[in-house]
Amino acid sequence: MMDKKELTLFIKAEALRLGFTVCGIAQAAPVDLRTVGYLKKWVGEGRHGTMGYLERNCDKRTDPTLLFPGCRSIICVALNYFPGNVEEERLHLSRYALGRDYHKAVKDRLFMLLQAINGKVKVSGRPFCDTAPLLERYWATRAGIGWIGKNHQLIIPNAGTHFFLGELLIDAELEYDTPLEGNRCGECSECIDACPTNALTAEGFDARLCLSYLTIEHRGELPENIGEKMGNCFYGCDRCQKWCPHNRFATPTQVTEFTPSAALLAMDESDWKGLTEERYKELFGNSAVERCGYGQLMRNINSLK
Ligand code: SF4
Ligand code: SF4
Repeated sequence: MMDKKELTLFIKAEALRLGFTVCGIAQAAPVDLRTVGYLKKWVGEGRHGTMGYLERNCDKRTDPTLLFPGCRSIICVALNYFPGNVEEERLHLSRYALGRDYHKAVKDRLFMLLQAINGKVKVSGRPFCDTAPLLERYWATRAGIGWIGKNHQLIIPNAGTHFFLGELLIDAELEYDTPLEGNRCGECSECIDACPTNALTAEGFDARLCLSYLTIEHRGELPENIGEKMGNCFYGCDRCQKWCPHNRFATPTQVTEFTPSAALLAMDESDWKGLTEERYKELFGNSAVERCGYGQLMRNINSLK
């Protein structure tokens, strides 16, 4: 039978073996009052746009022990999706959308991690990846795997921002990591300067202005003249990551599911503009882009200037 320390070390080693770049562990507890206050104010001001799910499940979002009763530990992991240097002069999608569906890639590995833990100690657990009211970046900082930059992304020291986050909540007590507190950007403002819509400012982030929100989450008409700001990216927007100096540490992913398909990389402007629904299904059948739907993707493509 493993003791707490041995089990913690086993979990971290197993997470790395499964392909996660980092793994940290936080004690499950209600979210701190400062973060709760920020979240309530942000939603209260309507900065979440039409993402109505952020108005719901506030109790669970701010207390993971309500999301998974009996939860004692939050195991936080990050899976690298950085595709390397792809040709961004052509029309393209955000880097995170070039591979297969990340929800499945992350959750499959978390289920394997849970299974491995159960091979040592009997625990109950629930894996999550962007699928539940859980403050992923907050817990990642509590677990010491990164800190939240002015670009509102999790910055992993010596690795950057191109990561999908996942969490495994379990009912066993473990040894906990030291949180990475505060914003460590210093005087840098590269992401704010690079943001084409002023969604990011020194005062914070307004999703309603963000190209990533508008092209992926927003279902209605796009604002007039948005195409000029989109540049040649018609799904998402990577600018606030692209210029972040911490991404000089980014290394191409070794996760096979995230290797961009040759068919996707070969698409040129006329292919995208003439995209049929059938071809859309072939290209994105197993991708998070499928959630956006063909009509919305064409709305974005047709808005480009
Ligand atoms: S994704 Fe683009 S539009 Fe959104 S905050 Fe970042 S730079 Fe600004
Ligand atoms: S670009 Fe600079 S200010 Fe923005 S998140 Fe990165 S380090 Fe922080």
